[in-house]
Amino acid sequence: MHKIKLLDDCIHELARLPGVGRKTAARLAMHILKMKPEDVHRLADRLTAFKDNTVFCSVCGGLSEGETCPICMDTYREPHVLCVVEEAKDIFIIEQTSYYKGRYHVLGGKISPLDGIGPDNLRIAELLDRVQAEGVTEVILATNPDVDGETTAIYLTRRLKSIADSAVKVTKLASGIPLGTHIEYADEMTVLRALESRREI
Ligand SMILES: [Zn+2]
Repeated sequence: MHKIKLLDDCIHELARLPGVGRKTAARLAMHILKMKPEDVHRLADRLTAFKDNTVFCSVCGGLSEGETCPICMDTYREPHVLCVVEEAKDIFIIEQTSYYKGRYHVLGGKISPLDGIGPDNLRIAELLDRVQAEGVTEVILATNPDVDGETTAIYLTRRLKSIADSAVKVTKLASGIPLGTHIEYADEMTVLRALESRREI
């Protein structure tokens, strides 16, 4: 079979991205070939710059261009309310509502026995430390409404309530987000309503 090695390499790399099959990768590669050279170089430069300069905030675990992210450094944000999310990208969804003024804590996943992910694989110890060290009065659990997300929320509630001398209020997003729907796919109004009508557990 006649093969163009550089094209094949390009398709191979693109097809490694999630949701991109070989056919789509081939289409993207051919599109890239038709793009202006400066546009392709800019795309490559931005991907490299993004990868090389984006880190996880040492406090909340969200995305950051420096040691501490802008949300953690923002002195106008309510310091005693923490919203716990599974992944760094979930922060963007909640930020889009412009309703929430507290800070965040990224777990880095959810408890999932089938995938071999237990509490020790998540940033739970860091969360408990922050609740105590930062005098947190409310923790809003914004894990996803699927089985693993619910299991994680129940586990976190138990751990948070067991902190000695702490009267931290634990709330959970209202069930406006349809069961099984990842926060990522919920629209802005749904997330806003789920936040506004969060309930204590
Ligand atoms: Zn941060």
